[in-house]
Parts: sequence; C-alpha cells; structure tokens
Amino acid sequence: MKKVKENSPVNLKKNQVIPLTIEDFTKEGEGLGKYQGFPFFVKDTVIGDKVKVSVTKLKKHYGYARVVEILEPSPDRVEPVCPVARQCGGCKIQQLSYEKQLEFKKNLVAGCLTHIGGFKNVDTIMEPVCGMKDPWHYRNKAQFPVGYDKEGNLVAGFYAGRTHSIVANTDCMIQAEVTGRIVENVLDYMRENHVPAYDEKSHTGLVRHILTRVGFSTGEIMVCLIVNGNRKQLPHVRSLVDRLTKIEGMASIIINSNTEKTNKILGTHCETLWGKDYIEDRIGEVRYRIGPLSFYQVNPVQTKVLYSKALEYANLKGEETVWDLYCGIGTISLFLAKKAKQVYGVEIVKEAVEDARKNAALNHMDNVEFYVGKAEEVVPAQYEKTGIHPDVIVVDPPRKGCDATLLYTMLAMEPERIVYVSCDPATLARDLKILCEENYELKKVTVVDQFGHSTHVETVCLLSRK
Ligand code: SAH
Repeated sequence: MKKVKENSPVNLKKNQVIPLTIEDFTKEGEGLGKYQGFPFFVKDTVIGDKVKVSVTKLKKHYGYARVVEILEPSPDRVEPVCPVARQCGGCKIQQLSYEKQLEFKKNLVAGCLTHIGGFKNVDTIMEPVCGMKDPWHYRNKAQFPVGYDKEGNLVAGFYAGRTHSIVANTDCMIQAEVTGRIVENVLDYMRENHVPAYDEKSHTGLVRHILTRVGFSTGEIMVCLIVNGNRKQLPHVRSLVDRLTKIEGMASIIINSNTEKTNKILGTHCETLWGKDYIEDRIGEVRYRIGPLSFYQVNPVQTKVLYSKALEYANLKGEETVWDLYCGIGTISLFLAKKAKQVYGVEIVKEAVEDARKNAALNHMDNVEFYVGKAEEVVPAQYEKTGIHPDVIVVDPPRKGCDATLLYTMLAMEPERIVYVSCDPATLARDLKILCEENYELKKVTVVDQFGHSTHVETVCLLSRK
C-alpha cells in the first residue's frame, strides 16, 4: 500500500476504508466529504449520505474514494431506475431525487452569479426552475458504440465514465422508448449475418456505432449505421431494412462511412439505404429538417420551454431587428423571426448555416439572414459597415462563453435588451459581469433543465439597457 505524501494532514493509505459524511456536491456531481478535515471526492453519493468508502487516490490537498457501503442514506437519495447507472458514463446524478437535481442546478447558477459575477440581488431575479414533467425518455438522439463483452458476445451500449469500455445496455432510460428496439434489431441482423463489430485497437471490423434520431412531434425515425468501410461490405442489407421498416415511423436508413482512426463518431460520407435522406421535426410551430450529420437539440420538449423563455425575454412586437449569435442551424433565429421584423444569425460552422437557410425556406420565412463566421469577427465588421443598432441581441455560445471583443461590440450597439442563453454558468457569470458594468442591468434568470440526471445546466437571462 502506498502512503500519502509526508506533508499530507492525515496519515491515510490507498484502499483504506474510512467513514465519511457527504457535506457538499461538486459541479461534476460528485459528493464531497471530509476525513479529519481532509476532503475526499466520492462518485455516486449525495449530500447527507453517511457512507463507508475505500480510498482510491491521494493528492496533496484532497483525495478520491469509492463507496463500499451506504451506512445511512440521505433523505434526498433515490434508487437509480437504471440498473447500470453507476457504471455508465451517461447519467451522473440519478441517485439524487429529480426535485433535488433541479435545486442543485439552480444553486449552481446562483453561486456563479454571486461569486463570479458579483451580483448581489440573485435571489430576487431568479425565476423558478423549469424542470421536465417527466425526466425519462427525453432524448431524441442516441449514439451506441458496438463491440464485444468479455465473453465475446456482441453488445451495444454506452461508454463507462472516462473510458472506451462499453457498458452493455440497449434499454437506456433517457432515450426515446423505441430506441432499444431499433438497436436490438441491428444487433440481431449483425449476429445472423456474421457482421463484425469494429475494434478500436486493431482498427478492424465493420460496425462502429448505431445512431438513432426520433422526431418527437412527427414520429419520424432515422437509423444510421456508422461503418469502417462502405455499404457494399454489409451482407444481406435487405434483411436489415426488412427488420427496421417493421418499426412504426421508420423514415430513413443510412450508412455513414468512417474509416479513420479517430474518436469522432461520424465520417463525412453518407449513403441512404432506404427512405429519405433526412427526417423532419417541429419545435412549436417551426419545422426543422434533420440529416444524419446535422446538429439538433436533443431534448425538443424542453428546448421549446427554453426558447419560449428566450422569446418572452426578447419581448418582440413585430418591428424589431434582432441578432441571433452562435445560431447553429437557426433554431432560435426561426423562433424569433415569427415575431420580429428582421433576424440576422451568425454561426461558425458552414454546414449548420446551410441547414439554417434550408430551414428558413422550409418555413417560408424571408426575414432571416445568416452569416458564416466567428461572431466576434462578423458582428464588429457588420456594425462598422452599417452602424445599425439592433433592438435585441440573443447569444447562445458554447461552454467557453463569448469572446470579449464581441461583448464590447454588443455594448457599443446599445440594444434595448440582451438575451443570454448559456450552457455553462461560470462563463455566463463572467460575461454578464462585463455586460453589466455600466449601462445594462440583469433583470431575470431562469434555469431550464434540458438534461435530467446529468450535471449539465442550461440558463436563460434577460439584460435591459438602463
Ligand atoms: N443556438 C443554437 C446552437 C447553440 S450551440 C441552437 O439553439 O440550436 C453553440 C453554437 O456556436 C454551435 O453551433 C457552434 O458551432 C457555434 N460557435 C462556436 N464558436 C463560435 C464563434 N466564435 N462564432 C460563431 N459561432 C460559434
């Protein structure tokens, strides 16, 4: 057994079993308990649990431990519904009651706004969290890696946390209910026809992933097989098609080729085996066309809640000019365009902008225009060129938040309102601090839960010009 470094405050060893009371919860969803003042991070625990843990790793100022026994469960603890919740890298906080998950997410945002953003009125501006009515089977997209278990059986499932070993499970509790049946049918086809799964280490074999997408409003289903090769290498594809088309709603069966040695799931080349090249879905009244490579929100029900909040905050009357920055496939832009005079979207990924333009046409909207490029380059250039002062600016950046150049340009453009949609409370708070230094005031904040049982937090904020 390895000893802790000399200067560690407690004399503990690896694998030693100690009692802990969980007192805090990290933003990654790990419990935190202290042993003689020395902090340990423990997966699969919740605040209030009294547990026996085994020390797994020791650092100078903290350690990691694994639960051996729950001595006294916290009142907030629930039995995870999924039998593989602990092994699977997907749901990190299924052991916490859904009500408490929402409280955890709200507190996380409140903490960031207070400590990073320096806001003092957080309690009064935060609206109630918008949680899901039913936090199960909410995802419309799944990507199952395919491989073999220790006994050599063909399996599909999800990666265990931080590894590429597959936890076999086709009946995922957060995926659309039909998903399990689709994956089982693909596996049956593979077994019957001796189609090998792909092996990452040797870069041999064929089927890498099974991608499923379900249009929740339309019922349309897409199945995409990602193969290390091409369609011709798949034997008896008719029998695969026959199986899958028995499933109600099947609309598109696609083969995607990915022959690279890479962690990226999808390759760039697709071939349609049966049906359409895409499926359609609706969020509210807006229709979207989704191809196998398109980005699309994975929880359409809560996305509608989120965008409705953004729209409420934007408070459009029909005469406004609006910028939607980091617009992706134009999901928010089209939502706003129904209520605004003119919307301009900006997005860095060319293919996403192509989808955005197609979606605008699909919805017969001619008051939206999209620009390809970095928001921090396109917006300052456009502002310099036209000097336009938009009424509302909406931003929905990736986790790293907005570039400072963009924030200062937004301030110079003096919109009446700024709506900030964020997937990272820390960078949100950092950016809001800059925006609220002088002429803007943070008016309202709402947390909308898009990803139940995970620690991801989605927030929408309203800023008004003073
Ligand atoms: N608003 C969209 C997507 C938001 S995700 C929706 O609701 O569907 C964030 C988007 O920002 C991604 O599409 C990503 O490609 C894009 N992006 C990342 N960095 C960017 C940058 N510097 N400028 C513009 N877009 C960027």
